[in-house]
Amino acid sequence: MPVELPPLPYDYKALEPHIGEATMHIHHDKHHQAYVTNCNKMTAGTDLENSDLVAVIHAAKASGNQGLFNNAAQVWNHTFYWQSMRAGGGGEPSGPIADMINTAFGSYAEFKTQFETAGNTQFGSGWAWLLWTPEGLKITKTGNADTPVTSEGVVPLLTMDVWEHAYYLDFQNARPNYTKTFVDHLINWDFVNANLPK
Ligand code: MN
Repeated sequence: MPVELPPLPYDYKALEPHIGEATMHIHHDKHHQAYVTNCNKMTAGTDLENSDLVAVIHAAKASGNQGLFNNAAQVWNHTFYWQSMRAGGGGEPSGPIADMINTAFGSYAEFKTQFETAGNTQFGSGWAWLLWTPEGLKITKTGNADTPVTSEGVVPLLTMDVWEHAYYLDFQNARPNYTKTFVDHLINWDFVNANLPK
C-alpha cells in the first residue's frame, strides 16, 4: 500500500473562529496532500514502496535521502498535528497529563509559557513538541520536517505546526497570537493522554 492522506478528524470549519476553513483546506488538501504525493513518487519501484510510513522515515534518514525524509516526515507530522487539535480544546488539561505537567514544569502556566516560546522562537519553519521521555516530559522544537518520531526512547505527545502556511491566513505575521490561541483553545488533551506510554 502506498502512503495515503488521512481525512481530517473533524470538519474543515471545526476549529473556527481560531483556524479558518480556508487554512484547513489549503493546509490539508494542498500541503499535506503534496507531501503524500511526493513521498509515493519517491518510493515507487523501490523496496520502500509497500513499507509503512515510519519505516520509510527511518530508512530515508539512515540512507541520507533528504528529499524522501522531508516528505515522509511531513506526512507523519501533519497527521499527528490534526489529531493534536480539537474544537473547544486547550486550557488546563485533565487526566494523567495534568499531574505530569505539574511535575515536569511546576505548573500549567509554566508549561504554557515554555510551549508557546518553543513555537515562537523556532527560526523559520518547523514544529514545537511535547514529548514523553523516561526522565519526564520535555518541550522541544524541530526545524523544517525534522521529527522526534525517529528518536529512540522518546514518545511524541503533542505537536504544533509553526510553518507560516499553518497560520498566515488567520494571524498573518503574528505567530505569537497563533501559538497562544493553539494552547488556549485548540490542544486536544484527550489525544495527549492517549499517547502516554501504558
Ligand atoms: Mn504544515
